[in-house]
Amino acid sequence: MHRLRRVRRHLSDRSYSSRISLLLRTGKGIALAFFLFFCLSFCPAQQPGDTDLPLIRQLYPTDTSFRQFTGDVERNRRLLVGARAQPERAAENLTIYRYIVREGEDLYHLAARSTIPYSALASLNRLNSPSVIQPGMTILLPSCPGIFIPSNVETDLEKIIGAARVSAEGGIELRINTAGRTTTYLFFPGADFTPTERSFFLNAGFRFPLRNYRITSRFGVRADPFSGHQQMHQGIDLAAPEGTEVFAIADGIVTAAGFDSVLGNFIIISHNNNYSSLYGHLQRIETVLRAEVRSGTLIGRVGSTGQSTGPHLHFELRHGGRAFDPSGRLRH
Ligand SMILES: [Zn+2]
Repeated sequence: MHRLRRVRRHLSDRSYSSRISLLLRTGKGIALAFFLFFCLSFCPAQQPGDTDLPLIRQLYPTDTSFRQFTGDVERNRRLLVGARAQPERAAENLTIYRYIVREGEDLYHLAARSTIPYSALASLNRLNSPSVIQPGMTILLPSCPGIFIPSNVETDLEKIIGAARVSAEGGIELRINTAGRTTTYLFFPGADFTPTERSFFLNAGFRFPLRNYRITSRFGVRADPFSGHQQMHQGIDLAAPEGTEVFAIADGIVTAAGFDSVLGNFIIISHNNNYSSLYGHLQRIETVLRAEVRSGTLIGRVGSTGQSTGPHLHFELRHGGRAFDPSGRLRH
């Protein structure tokens, strides 16, 4: 038995004239179909008048749209918590804003400023890894945390998050019409990435620089093999036979290639979003300064040049110039 009731409401209190058509379906369990009809463009520069979605110019309270957005987020968050949580109502109140990424901003910055988990931003915007965020890119900001699964799953991440949830209850169907192209999503209000999904998403950007290796030294404070003093080890050491191929961990540009008395023959590659990677003690450098490399490009050979006790790759991953522990961030 299905009874269909159509509710149409005009968002007259909004700075835009979007209309949400809500289709409520009652039957076994909660099955709520929710359609958002938006007309928006992912390329506002090409078709500036083609969108009804409010544009947030700055992620600061001085921006009117941002204030409105944060108000929406607060209301929806209240509907998601507590014993009387009403996730369907939060989904019903979902509004979507646009934001154009600025220089120096990454996914974590956008998530922190918008107070929306990066899983919601990633799944709605169909990002396969954090590194795809670029200045000038238009990002959709949802006013409700949750996971969005497009009906036409394409990326490996979407297959993983889709497989776990598509048959689950509580998914709300919504359609976003983008300049003539409609994407249908199943929305799970309040949901977040599982640990597996999170790890897949975070690691999708970087691959291991070696095919086969043995980790001989980890990131962190250790007794320096030469001085014996406690010292910070800024990377990881991957032991492998002399001459083993070393690959770029992601797309980027070679910004240093030379010799250093400590690092020996070394390469630094700059990647998107202020990430960079360093490869030290190389036997040979197989790339040149300013070369554009792809993820997996051969860039050098494992050696023992500089201050080294045996053939290994000293590998560092940096963000904003600061090294951090790369373990858990690299996929095979
Ligand atoms: Zn090292």
